Amino acid sequence: MSVLVYTENADGKFKKSTFEVVSYARAIADQNNTKLIAVSIGSVSAAELATLGKYGAEKVLNVSNEQLKNFVNQAYASIIAEAAKKESADIVVLSNSFSGRGLAPRLGVKLEAGVADGAVALPEQTDGKFKIKKTAFSGKAFAIVELTSANKIISLTPNAYKVVETNKTASVEDFSVEAKAGDFAAVIKEIVRSTDKVSLPDADIVISGGRGLKGPENWGMVEELADLLGAALACSKPVSDAGWRPHSEHVGQTGIAISPNLYIAIGISGAIQHLAGVSSSKVIVVINKDAEAPFFKVADYGIVGDAFEVVPKIITAIKQFKA
Ligand code: FAD
Repeated sequence: MSVLVYTENADGKFKKSTFEVVSYARAIADQNNTKLIAVSIGSVSAAELATLGKYGAEKVLNVSNEQLKNFVNQAYASIIAEAAKKESADIVVLSNSFSGRGLAPRLGVKLEAGVADGAVALPEQTDGKFKIKKTAFSGKAFAIVELTSANKIISLTPNAYKVVETNKTASVEDFSVEAKAGDFAAVIKEIVRSTDKVSLPDADIVISGGRGLKGPENWGMVEELADLLGAALACSKPVSDAGWRPHSEHVGQTGIAISPNLYIAIGISGAIQHLAGVSSSKVIVVINKDAEAPFFKVADYGIVGDAFEVVPKIITAIKQFKA
């Protein structure tokens, strides 16, 4: 028995969510008194691979291959499943990222495993039971699920578990898997980035604007605030529907689900469909001129005021603080 963790990279560098997921998998390995093996796919340098030891991996299986430089769902799932078989891993951990959401069910089929997607806490393992808390109904609720299968797949909600450093070092071993029929049935030919800013699902801080901002011409102050805080931009659905902002920024039930450490909502009412995608954020700050806006019910901090007065004051204060 062992625990296997899939480690995502972007352009050869591990993401922050990767270190979270390795720390989380380390804790599960410790719960079970077993070893933690990481699997990395793509073009990652030896030095970068070795950093996984710092977060608790004892060994890294490195699958390096030009054909696998870009994410290919079927092929990646085949490799992770083969790595799990090679290492007799009965628990496979990955991030509940875009790619993780595609991989987890495929791994469930390949390994005949129960899947807990969107885990937010470590499993509870008592009386031979394996229970885990996860998000449900697009983040509107939590569920405790019991995985009864011998093999188990857990995908971790980004920002739900802290990065923990250990004093371990990881050995790196090359690993290759022969491609199976269908592994490359659909491949990414080209990646066109819509922004050079921090990507929304990976962002620590997200600044989001709603219809209360009146029009696209008023996003300057939102962008300035985001730049000052190193934040990603998001918006409500009507804002992207109206073409004020790109659809890639739309968060919520029908948009991207995010869980940053800080979510600042400006001029957004807090409809249930919006909250479905943002309520797992660690700290929520709401700026709205209507004290009765539903968003205030889930806010950690609320400012009742006109965004056109409040946001410039916040910008000035941050600039003074940074000076
Ligand atoms: P509004 O509801 O119009 O709210 C604007 C807010 O701005 C108000 O609270 C107002 O008090 C405040 N305001 C106005 N002027 C100012 C000012 N000067 N300063 C400060 N505050 C001000 N919505 C999503 O966002 N994401 C989704 O994924 C999504 N999916 C949906 C799926 C379905 C099936 C349906 C039916 C709806 C969905 N919606 C979604 C739409 C959702 O129901 C709401 O209509 C939407 O979230 C409202 O957007 P808003 O808060 O920007 O606008």
